[in-house]
Parts: sequence; structure tokens; C-alpha cells
Amino acid sequence: MENQLQIYNTLSRKKEVFKPINEGKVGLYVCGPTVYGKAHLGHARPAVTFDLLFRYLQHLGYKVRYVRNITDVGHLQNDADEGEDKIAKKARLDELEPMEVVQIYTNDYHKNMQKLNILPPSIEPRATGHILEQIEVIEKILKAGYAYESKGSIYFDVEKYSQDYPYGELSGRKIEDLQANTRELDGQDEKHSPLDFAIWKKAAPEHIMRWKSKWSDGFPGWHLECTAMGSKYLGERFDIHGGGMDLTFPHHEAEIAQAKAAFGHQAVNYWMHNNMVTLNGQKMGKSLGNAISLDEFFDGNHELLEQAYSPMTIRFFMLTAQYRSTLDFSNEALQASEKGMERLLKAVETLETIKAKGQSSIQVTDLSDKCYAAMNDDLNSPVAIAHLFDGVKIINSIADGKETISEADLTGLKKLYSIFVFDLFGLQKQEDSGSVDNNSAFEGAVNLLLQLRMEAKVNKDWGTADKIRDELAKLGFDIKDTKDGFDWELKK
Ligand code: ZN
Repeated sequence: MENQLQIYNTLSRKKEVFKPINEGKVGLYVCGPTVYGKAHLGHARPAVTFDLLFRYLQHLGYKVRYVRNITDVGHLQNDADEGEDKIAKKARLDELEPMEVVQIYTNDYHKNMQKLNILPPSIEPRATGHILEQIEVIEKILKAGYAYESKGSIYFDVEKYSQDYPYGELSGRKIEDLQANTRELDGQDEKHSPLDFAIWKKAAPEHIMRWKSKWSDGFPGWHLECTAMGSKYLGERFDIHGGGMDLTFPHHEAEIAQAKAAFGHQAVNYWMHNNMVTLNGQKMGKSLGNAISLDEFFDGNHELLEQAYSPMTIRFFMLTAQYRSTLDFSNEALQASEKGMERLLKAVETLETIKAKGQSSIQVTDLSDKCYAAMNDDLNSPVAIAHLFDGVKIINSIADGKETISEADLTGLKKLYSIFVFDLFGLQKQEDSGSVDNNSAFEGAVNLLLQLRMEAKVNKDWGTADKIRDELAKLGFDIKDTKDGFDWELKK
């Protein structure tokens, strides 16, 4: 029985027993969203993965400082080398301040994370709020000799770094292969080598988001913000750094290099990466026409979706795969997941109605040990869920009077399901799916009353008509007579 949390460390490529730097405390950093578009499925997977980790660490009794940044500088994904700032471009097209664009999508992200019942992080720093810290890291890297200035920009010197440290240790890439696979320099390039990446970039005249520095008016390179904010809030050495697998190279590889260059040592003890989501077996992307926003999933408003899927269905579906496996979204899989979750939540309700009687036909401690063992095995939520479903069969059988359970076991079972279903998996009772029905029944009832009011008016029964309007108004309804009948809304 493994009763210690083991996590797969991408850096060592094996599962390791988790030991925090400071007893009882965990520093956790996760790369957050780049806020220049609506929150989509790709945002949900790391959010759910690291929410599960955050919840589980806290459940184990750790005090966790969870830092998840907002990338709002809007530079290009890889190198910030060419092209227009994405946020600035969006701002120009929509005639908004860049920070308005940032705020719109930050709000959208938060709204969707809340729907998915993702706990807010302890600190949510913004890249634009940490320009000074980023400049400080650049100065340290320059001082250590691992960066150079070129035409107002500062580049990280990958070649120089790789003489002292293994560049590519996280992604498993070899510097020789990387060199062979990159284009030859055309002589115009500011970089000494194509592998070098900008840590400060001089802004082109049209670039709106820019800050003053002694090198130029410019902006920091993307990889740098996480090094600066991670070390600011968690220290130059901290426990866990997470993110999507697509970030291992170049982003996290660059973070490791920057930290070693600036601080002289590895900054992170455990690197954790969630795998990607696919849709009907395909990678998702705007260019592929299959990037579905979370809003579209929740209201079913997309041609690839047969129905709306509740945030809890999406969340539960993600938990039915271990975070390091790929997860393929399809209508069939989501519908099956929806049914499974309903069965699980129903069993939790049934549990409340069960009466203890006689001997137990269920080994609650054994079931509990299995669930924890699964979680301790690199957050293997699908295995824990499978064990919970084994328990569901027994719960239903006890409810049917075919089996019995003792008082102590019933208490233990209720606690186990409450911890796993609600505290750790973060599922919420499906008031939503109920409320779709409730809503339509409610709307139907109000419409019926207003229909009766119209009939009363036709019959010149002004007393009844006014009574219906006044009573509904008292309840907070705003009723308008329109050309074709009526319109109403419930004022909040
Ligand atoms: Zn990052």
C-alpha cells in the first residue's frame, strides 16, 4: 500500500515521492492563460489538473501557495521576434485599449473557471504588473554572462549556456539536433544563433505595449515572466511547476535556462505537465475550425456539438483520464461521462437515505485505501473513480435491501464519498441540469399568467388584468406590453 504522494517529474522522467522544501508547505506555480481570446477547452485541462493537485495537497494538510499567472503582454508565442503584439492587434481591430482587451478575456476566463468549480489560485500575477522584476532577472542573466545585447534587444545565449548546463534537459532535445534543425542565419539577424531567444525585445514603432528600459523601449520575452513571477512569489527554489505538455519546449526549457543562468541553480524540484485534449481524434485549433470555446460547450452552440454539456460534465470527463494521457472529446464520450457522473451523484444522494443495520457487506477502509492509493499514484483519478463506482453498486444494493451496512461503515462511506466527489473532484450537484427543466417550467408559468392577463384584457376584465400585472411586479417581474403581446424579465 503506497500511502505517500508520488508525482511524475517530467525532468527526471520518473515518478518520485513528493517531498516539499519546507515541511508542511508547498509552492506551486502554473502557467496561466494568455488572455487574447475566449477561454476554450485547452484552458480547461491544465485548470482541472492543477485544481485537483491543489485540492489534494490541501486535503493532505499542506499549506499551498498556488501562483497562476495571467500572460497579458501579448507577445508572440515563441520568441516575440516578429509580427504584431496579439493583444495590440485585437485592440486595434476592436478600437479598445490593450488593457481593455486583457480585462475582457481575463473576466471571460474567470467566469468559465468558476463554472468549472476551479478554485482561485492564492496569487494571480499579471506579466504587465511585473516588468521591473523581469528587468531585474535580465540584469542578473546579463551579469552572469548568459545574454547579450543586440540593437536594443537582449537575447539569451543558448550556446554559451549549453557549455555550462544541459540545455534541453526537460524536453529531451539535444542542442546538436536543435542546431541542425534551425535555419541558417541570413546575416541580418540580431541573434548570434537561431537558438537564442529574446528576453527583452526592442519594440517596433507600431508596438503599443512597451516599457522603458536602459536598453530600449520594449517588452520582455514571454518565457521570462514566469521566471520573474515564480521567483518573486515562491522563491528562487520552489516545489512544483506545472503547465500543459505543449509548454515543455521552448517555454519551460527556457525557464529552466533563465533560472539557472540568473540564480545559478535549478529553480523547480518537480515539473508536472498535463497532456493535450483532442476533438474527435484531431488536434484542436482555430485554423482547423474545431476550436470550441467553453461557452459553446456550456450552451451547445457549435456545429460539432449535439447538445450542451454542463461545466460539471466537462470537469468530470477530464477527471476520467489521468492527466498525463491524451483525452479525446466527442459527443459519445461526453454523453457517457454525463450519465456516469449522474449515477455517481445519485449514489451520493442515496447514501443519505440509507439506514445502518446489521453487519457490513462492504469493506469501507479497503475502498478508502484504494481511492487514496490511486490519488497518491500521480493523481490517478480514473482509477479512484473506478473504485468509487464499485462502491456505487454496493450502495445501490444496500438501498434495495439486498445488503446491509453497520453504523460506523455508513459514516465512513458518507465521508469517503463527500471527500472524493465534492472536495477533491470538485463536482457540484447538478442543480444545473435540473434548473434547465425548472427554468422552462418557471418560464411557462409566467407566460401562462401573462396569457391569462391578455385574455382578461380582451374580455375587459381590467380588475384581473391589473391584479396579475401588479402581483407579478411585486415579485420583481418587469412586464412590458408589446405590439404582439408581452415581454417580461425578472429583475435581479
Ligand atoms: Zn509560463
